[in-house]
Amino acid sequence: MSSKGLIRTALERARACVPLNSHPRFFQTPELPSQAFRSMGTLATITLGSDCADRIEPVTQHVRAIFDRLEREMSAYRSDSAISEIARMAGVAPVKVPADTYQVLSLGQRFGSLSVGVFNITAAPLASLWGFNGAAVPNTLPSDQSIGKLLKLVDHRGLVLHDGTAFLSLKGMSVDVGGIAKGYAIDRAYDYCLSAGIRDFLIDFSGNVRVAGRPSRREDWQIGVRDPFDRSSIIGKIALPSGMAVSTSGSYERFVDILGQRYSHIIDPRTGYPVTETASVTVLCNDAVTADALSTAFFVAGLKGSREILKKFTPSVDLLLVPDRFPTELWLTPGFGNVLTSNNAGQSFPLSDQR
Ligand code: AMP
Ligand code: MG
Repeated sequence: MSSKGLIRTALERARACVPLNSHPRFFQTPELPSQAFRSMGTLATITLGSDCADRIEPVTQHVRAIFDRLEREMSAYRSDSAISEIARMAGVAPVKVPADTYQVLSLGQRFGSLSVGVFNITAAPLASLWGFNGAAVPNTLPSDQSIGKLLKLVDHRGLVLHDGTAFLSLKGMSVDVGGIAKGYAIDRAYDYCLSAGIRDFLIDFSGNVRVAGRPSRREDWQIGVRDPFDRSSIIGKIALPSGMAVSTSGSYERFVDILGQRYSHIIDPRTGYPVTETASVTVLCNDAVTADALSTAFFVAGLKGSREILKKFTPSVDLLLVPDRFPTELWLTPGFGNVLTSNNAGQSFPLSDQR
């Protein structure tokens, strides 16, 4: 078996550890009004400041309607979504798409350029090859030949966006906005909550969080960042200032099992293989769509490639990267270090765009 694509999770190296869902976890104060619902195949939670308790029901319903509408437009799992229609019409004709889908595709391309292609919404055919996006999980590792063939279809410049339409230039191409859509949805929900006069709230959508105001006069919103090697514990807590967003991407979040090995859902579009060297990435910045796209991008770029991307976003983006190796290393930008209360889960190292 090729060692490429092998996810060396802690599970394989230390039996006591368990692979997990990586969601940064909000330490919910029991008295705060909070409601959860499912959308985009995952869990979303809305929490309001205590003085808005009577508004939790209508606010949650409204946010849910926003998330569900975006899911109908952008799900790769629904044959009636705009994203599926774009794939069906690949190499044939442009498709008129809803405004939000157009915006997400434009942002996807922009992050694709800024990340030198490691964030790539056209990596979808490869994700399917590895058994993601509803495709059957293969019994054996995909051959280099089949990966090479699909790599020719992975190029975000092959997605032509013009005047509200989207066109994939080659038959067989498809797009997957799973690395950016939840962050975009949070920002839309954030705008709605502010426009509805809600001052203090937290929106958590499967590892992507954005907050406004504070839960109480005495404290900021607190987010826990999962230890990627131990489901039951966290690396530390972040006190999140009003307006800020945080997003975590983890190899243990979603994976397939092929011949007894785990392969992560995040694909390196340069090689066609699932990413192997990163265990988790948490990004902190001013909006959820940037946090979401960049957590996926830094996850692919790994420690070596992240500095180059960071240069384009310093100082507005902060980052915590945990490589997939033992002993645990926490690589942090100075700004991340300032807001993280660490549990000493591993040794810390400074990360900057300089070295
Ligand atoms: P996240 O959990 O935000 O890191 O997003 C992971 C999801 O993004 C995957 O489940 C895929 O839907 C999609 N994805 C996988 N690889 C890439 C990539 N290289 N660039 C952009 N999106 C990706
Ligand atoms: Mg993402």
